[in-house]
Amino acid sequence: MNREEVLRIVKEENVKFIRLQLTDILGVHKSVSITVDQLEKALDGELMFDGSSIEGFVRIEESDMYLKPDLNTFMVLPWTSQVSSGKIARIICDVYDSDNKPFTGSPRYVLKKVIKEAEELGYTMYVGPEPEFFLFQVDEKGAPTLITNDKAGYFDLPPVDKGEEARRDMVETLQSMGFEIEAAHHEVAPGQHEIDFKYKDALTTADNIITFRIVVRMVAQRHGLHATFMPKPIYGIAGSGMHLHCSLFKGDRNIFYDENSPDGLSDTCKYFIAGVLKHAKAITAITNPTVNSYKRLVPGYEAPVYIAWSYKNRSPLIRIPARRGIGTRIEIRNPDPTCNPYLGLAVILKAGLDGIKNKLEVPPPVEENIYEMDLAARRMRNIESLPENLYEAINELHKDEVIKEALGEHVYSRFVWAKMKEWENYNTRVYDWEINEYLEKF
Ligand code: GLU
Ligand code: MG
Ligand code: MG
Repeated sequence: MNREEVLRIVKEENVKFIRLQLTDILGVHKSVSITVDQLEKALDGELMFDGSSIEGFVRIEESDMYLKPDLNTFMVLPWTSQVSSGKIARIICDVYDSDNKPFTGSPRYVLKKVIKEAEELGYTMYVGPEPEFFLFQVDEKGAPTLITNDKAGYFDLPPVDKGEEARRDMVETLQSMGFEIEAAHHEVAPGQHEIDFKYKDALTTADNIITFRIVVRMVAQRHGLHATFMPKPIYGIAGSGMHLHCSLFKGDRNIFYDENSPDGLSDTCKYFIAGVLKHAKAITAITNPTVNSYKRLVPGYEAPVYIAWSYKNRSPLIRIPARRGIGTRIEIRNPDPTCNPYLGLAVILKAGLDGIKNKLEVPPPVEENIYEMDLAARRMRNIESLPENLYEAINELHKDEVIKEALGEHVYSRFVWAKMKEWENYNTRVYDWEINEYLEKF
């Protein structure tokens, strides 16, 4: 899309407001609305904003930043088509500092930088995400409750599945925004749902994940429900993941596929897997960035706990779906939907490239159920665990120079600062569980 096209659509469709969107370091999307008469100025990248109030951006004394719209992301928001005063469009923006240089603290820049590194080697990474979420009932004041919207389970149909209408509405809204939806279904836990959309290049997918999260929450609200991407809202039932199906292409050739190898996977694919496994602990700090994320990564709920890969079973970190040829890919199973998708995809790609560049050797696949192995059996096979909590993950990130390099100094230091604060805040409180366990016993 070019400038003229944007201006033409704005006129033809009676767009009155444009949302300039960006994402902060913690993965929360932000936007500033402008009226249509400011659009040309915005398209010229001349719009300034105060970056000091955006999480992890800049210090007060250097807060002026520029928003540079990425015209490819321009879109008229379909749910505003009924608004009589005119429609609303959105454009996702890159952030530039007051010297007009790309701002190194912008997550989208971090991803673009690693994508460029891959491109220099001739590679493009494609990613298909599988975000899961819960739908909860709201109380009479509209506040979310912990009562799930139904009691249904995996692949259930209405009337047991009470989320179907909301889910269909989400799918249709996403489709009208250009998403190709591959599947939408009830997940294992009551009130839990999944909508999968087609793989795209890493940057488009990261943008899409942000859009997806906005649409799902907004449509749920319209149906009188609360959608949450919190990874483990309820103890004792499955949590919500966001598995990422990744493949690497050279031109239109999927280079994870090798028809002459016994398992159909190329050496490059094995190196990539080895790279992700090597850096898995530090990656987890980014792909599982909340205190709550680690309550999902426990045995028994199809979420990974151990650093291993497998062709079939779903307990390891990486699974290889059966498809070969152009559809050959690896499924990385630890990310959850609270992940900042720009940073998550940046660190995964960086780890894979490290594996390729250094021809890292992949350990043997593990086809047994690792949940059922004891510590001695895991040690014998050299199977390590993912970090058990946010604090451990941040320490692993601190030790991993490759992943730190992917993030860059600015994002790394702000991310760690914010997450240590979050951890301390959580860790120093006294919870119901402790009261129930200790108050009377001691
Ligand atoms: N909900 C599971 C998780 O936490 C995944 C279930 C599935 O395999 O789709 O990752
Ligand atoms: Mg699923
Ligand atoms: Mg999956």
